Amino acid sequence: MPTDSGQSKVASRATRGLLGLSMLVLFFALSPTRQMAWAGQTTHVIIVVIDGPRDSECFEDPQHLYVPRIWNTLRPLGYVSHSFYNTGVTTTVPGHSTVASGTWQSMPDDGTVRPDRPLIWEYLRDQTGVPDRSIALVTYKTKLRALSYSTAAGYGPPDSSYVIGPTWDDGISLQRLLTHLATYQTTLSMISFAGPDVMAHQEDWNGYVGAIARADSLTAFLWNWLQSHSVYARHTALFVTADHGRHTTDWINHGDACAGCRHLPFLALGPDFLSGVEASAPPADQRDIAVTAAGLLGIAMPYAQGRFMSELLRDQSDVPPWTLDVDPSALRVCPSPARDEISVRLGAPAGGARWLATLYDVQGRRLTVQEIPGSRLAGGAVLSRPPGLPEDAVTYLELRPVQGSDSRRWTRPVIWLR
Ligand SMILES: [Zn+2]
Ligand SMILES: [Zn+2]
Repeated sequence: MPTDSGQSKVASRATRGLLGLSMLVLFFALSPTRQMAWAGQTTHVIIVVIDGPRDSECFEDPQHLYVPRIWNTLRPLGYVSHSFYNTGVTTTVPGHSTVASGTWQSMPDDGTVRPDRPLIWEYLRDQTGVPDRSIALVTYKTKLRALSYSTAAGYGPPDSSYVIGPTWDDGISLQRLLTHLATYQTTLSMISFAGPDVMAHQEDWNGYVGAIARADSLTAFLWNWLQSHSVYARHTALFVTADHGRHTTDWINHGDACAGCRHLPFLALGPDFLSGVEASAPPADQRDIAVTAAGLLGIAMPYAQGRFMSELLRDQSDVPPWTLDVDPSALRVCPSPARDEISVRLGAPAGGARWLATLYDVQGRRLTVQEIPGSRLAGGAVLSRPPGLPEDAVTYLELRPVQGSDSRRWTRPVIWLR
């Protein structure tokens, strides 16, 4: 196991050098003003991905003809972004993979290639040990089964989601998700409504907009069902978005960089979110959903590139402490050929907290896990790097405060060292 070998290497603090190794000195700042207490209510997350609706048929339609329930009933309860995008590959598998991994994914759109970065449910299972039934991935299309787990080292089948589908029908998809939610305490779900994309490719306009209207009804039904269920009511965050849009000038197809393909609907509902907000700034993209969901659930996504969408929060001064942003411009790297160590310094005191510092290599393996008092970290703690490991093999440093048995106190983002 990567963790075990990493921890055994922690003990080895011998400085080796001689191989052009370097010492990295990192300076970065954590805001000292944010509280370490997080009063969030979210314990469950559901991500609804509508496959291929152009936003001109969804939220940007002035009449909201095909999304009346989401627009009239759900929107007042949540946060709508008019600046939400897929700026990566605008096809189905890459779009869903980006939402699930918090990284841009650009594999073929046929389900033969899995995501190469860990998916949010892999992090969740890895960090909390919940069984696969705590996660539901519900798909209309066969090819999305490739999202059950990634090919990232240290993750994979043991951290897989439970997969429902292909169902070949959006109504059956919802029915099966609700059965699963009612049977198992499900921490995290992703459901893909594919009717709009399927009908559009069949060049059936009425079928296309009808499928959007059906996804609209099913999403509203889902939200209402959640409010009637004691486990999920008042504790569930719901994200509604799309994997991609469709060409601005051709609703049948999609897949390029035009505005129609890139611009996506976005709605977030939940106990920690603002309600009745429609915003055009700040812009956000598909990578941000998993990172935000992970922040709410208290898990770390060391390889994700997205940002925690603090603009969604009801109390914007109460950002989860494990999502604290680190200013990359404050990061400084000082090579030293003689040392086999990494020095870390916080720009602001970390208080009395104890911190876990984890180094990861390019393959996603944990190299070392070291516990450091906050006072020492602020003064410039030295982390050992496994002997003989080139400096550029270290790609991530993760810091999280240790607060007794509270496993929700993770920091992110991870520092990008190179
Ligand atoms: Zn398509
Ligand atoms: Zn296009």
